[in-house]
Amino acid sequence: MRELELIYEGKSKLIYSTDSNDRVVIRFKDDATAFYNIKRAKIENKGKMCCAISSMLLSYLNKNGVNTHFVEQVDAESQLCRVVEHIPIEVIVRNVIAGSMAKRLGINEGIVPENTIFDLCLRSADLGDPLVNDHHVVALGLASYEDLQTIYEISAKANSLLVDLFNKAGIQLVDFKIEFGRAEDGTLVLADELTPDTCRLWDIDSGERMDKDRFRRDLGRVRETYEEVAKRLSNVLK
Ligand code: UDP
Repeated sequence: MRELELIYEGKSKLIYSTDSNDRVVIRFKDDATAFYNIKRAKIENKGKMCCAISSMLLSYLNKNGVNTHFVEQVDAESQLCRVVEHIPIEVIVRNVIAGSMAKRLGINEGIVPENTIFDLCLRSADLGDPLVNDHHVVALGLASYEDLQTIYEISAKANSLLVDLFNKAGIQLVDFKIEFGRAEDGTLVLADELTPDTCRLWDIDSGERMDKDRFRRDLGRVRETYEEVAKRLSNVLK
């Protein structure tokens, strides 16, 4: 598959068209950004680690009945993915209270609720990715109630598969963000990266943060931690 032209440049990824209409190449960059680009840095090897981690996780989901846009890893920093019509909604799945939910509701990070929590946010940097509900999404014409039902089902299934996998790697999956797209055949597929940039990962033994919070909160050892996540996942998936 030949990369043709750059069609999109995001904060941490580049997307290229290919000589096939239904495939794109997604390349991970070493850039780290937080707080809507206010905090920025280049972290050596991050692109490769995020590509490896995301490829392992998406391929694991594909094999276990959760359809994703991922086709295959093509080189150390790039993935071949299906072309989808992207839905501009972020689905946040939470197993443990942390981050914006802890702040917004005035609760301590680390509390484990009895239920799994699903938040929806509109993808709009101008509006600060506001929290929305099902009715807002339908009113905005972004998805139907049936689509949302499917999105919740896929998100819940992906969550239980990922919780199980990370557990085996000695990591607690606190929360993560995913996005969806419509494939050519009209089906909804998970169309996003799954990396320490988009998941909160806590070491089960030490409680140490193994994700982008190391960068957001200046905890240091970002590169080493992303490498450790890749190593542990590769060991459990062997
Ligand atoms: N997240 C993300 N992109 C976003 C917002 C959140 O990948 O635009 C991820 C984030 O890394 C965390 C989870 O979604 O794993 C929940 O994030 P939260 O709402 O707590 O926001 P935060 O305070 O982390 O920005």
